[in-house]
Amino acid sequence: MRTYQRGFEQNSIITIITFILLYIMVFFALDIPLSHPLFAWPSILIYFLIMGGRFWMLFKGKDLKEHFQITQVLIYGGALFWSLNYSFGLMNQPGIEDNLLIIIFLMGIGAAGAIGLSKNSKLTIGFLMSLFIPATVFSYIYLEKLNVFISLAFGMYCVYLVFYSNKYYRISQENIVGKLKLQNQKEALEDSQKLLTIQNQQLEKTLSKAKMADKAKSLFLANMSHEIRTPLNGIIGMSHLLKQTEMNVDQYKKVSIIEFSAETLVSLVNDILDFSKIEAGKLELDLDHFNLHEVINNTCELFVDKTKEKALTFNCNISPNVPVFIYSDQIRIKQILINLINNAIKYTDKGQVEVNILMEKQSEEGIILLLFEVTDSGIGISKENQEKLFSAFTQSDASFTRKFGGTGLGLAISKKLSVLLGGEIGLESELEHGSRFWFTIKAEKGQEIIRTENLSEHIKTKSLKILLAEDNKINVMVAKQILRMLGIKLWWLIMGWKLWNVFSLMNSISY
Ligand code: ADP
Repeated sequence: MRTYQRGFEQNSIITIITFILLYIMVFFALDIPLSHPLFAWPSILIYFLIMGGRFWMLFKGKDLKEHFQITQVLIYGGALFWSLNYSFGLMNQPGIEDNLLIIIFLMGIGAAGAIGLSKNSKLTIGFLMSLFIPATVFSYIYLEKLNVFISLAFGMYCVYLVFYSNKYYRISQENIVGKLKLQNQKEALEDSQKLLTIQNQQLEKTLSKAKMADKAKSLFLANMSHEIRTPLNGIIGMSHLLKQTEMNVDQYKKVSIIEFSAETLVSLVNDILDFSKIEAGKLELDLDHFNLHEVINNTCELFVDKTKEKALTFNCNISPNVPVFIYSDQIRIKQILINLINNAIKYTDKGQVEVNILMEKQSEEGIILLLFEVTDSGIGISKENQEKLFSAFTQSDASFTRKFGGTGLGLAISKKLSVLLGGEIGLESELEHGSRFWFTIKAEKGQEIIRTENLSEHIKTKSLKILLAEDNKINVMVAKQILRMLGIKLWWLIMGWKLWNVFSLMNSISY
């Protein structure tokens, strides 16, 4: 059962029942009810027609404009029924005592109606007017006593109810608007949440695709670099061997260029391999105890000729408190250092290049922080370019590639390596006034290494048995010839892909 006619909730079952009960109550409250026009048989008929109509609309009414209008007429009709009956009653019995009860009931009906209809202000006003205008006018004309007072009371009461029901209407309207706004906001929020979820899912998909692509790129680079290195080693080896043979100066120069170009290419490929390995998180440090002073001096040795060629002053200083032996990865330290010194010489035409190794900190647990500095008096780097230098494939000036060569990978690798070594990297530089590149590493103090004979000493003193394992024919040729030149006999040669079998075999052979 529907309690309200759809779209017209004032047509309430409770209001209708209340009005019927009031009618019955008045019947019992009056002294001689049947002599009052309220209970004359046409009145009873009209009243029950009105109430019946309202019941009918309640259960059968549709959400139609005409049905709404019928209900509205029935509501006004109900109000008029009471006020007109009161007025006609006054004509017969103008005494105030006879009508007091109905006056009170009229006021009650007005209040009940105003509350019931308050959500529709027009309807409330219409209902109150139908109820109180006839009651005010007829009271003034026909009441024997207190006519001014009662009609004034009716009028004021009507104004009061109109005013307050209107106020209540506005408040409830604001509430409804507020609720609607809230509802709209909630729906908008839910919509944007849904949108965000979809976008998130798309982002996740894109991210995982990008990650896969990145992994594939790193893997491709690593594989390709490895494959490129093998024939390059052939070129380097063969040019090296060729240089040992007799040839004229021009031939020698040409072979040297081939060798230099191949070496440059190998170092480039090594950079790419390193970078993709670090990117893929596959580069592992090879930690061991080693002589740091020796590593630094040997590294600096590599650049003595180069600096002489460019007439640069070159100094390499190790602070006395830097421990001789440390536990870290000497290859990677050397790699960063070579890169920085190489750059310093490359970008300096006059003045000096200086390398300084300092002890920054030492903890009680024996962990040390070492600072490596490479200072030059070269071309320097502008402030804006300094920020992007450590990103991969970045050069401070695009024209540098043509002038100085290089890929812009060196510093990116150095940065990653210094982080892997527990430190950081940075620079201070001023355009045309040189640069100071530095990096730090965290290391443990190392144990002294007992020196063993090196390979050449072995060759001089003992006859060596060599196991050569190589899967590339050209590399085998190069290796065989180099060994022959060193006067070493090849004991066993294994060619094949499964190199790990060879290594385990090597482990079991002592020489
Ligand atoms: P590459 O030297 O292969 O180009 P790097 O990553 O080692 O790559 O260096 C990136 C860029 O940083 C160089 O191209 C150069 O512009 C700048 N740079 C590096 N070191 C110096 C330096 N000592 N003085 C001036 N510019 C430098």
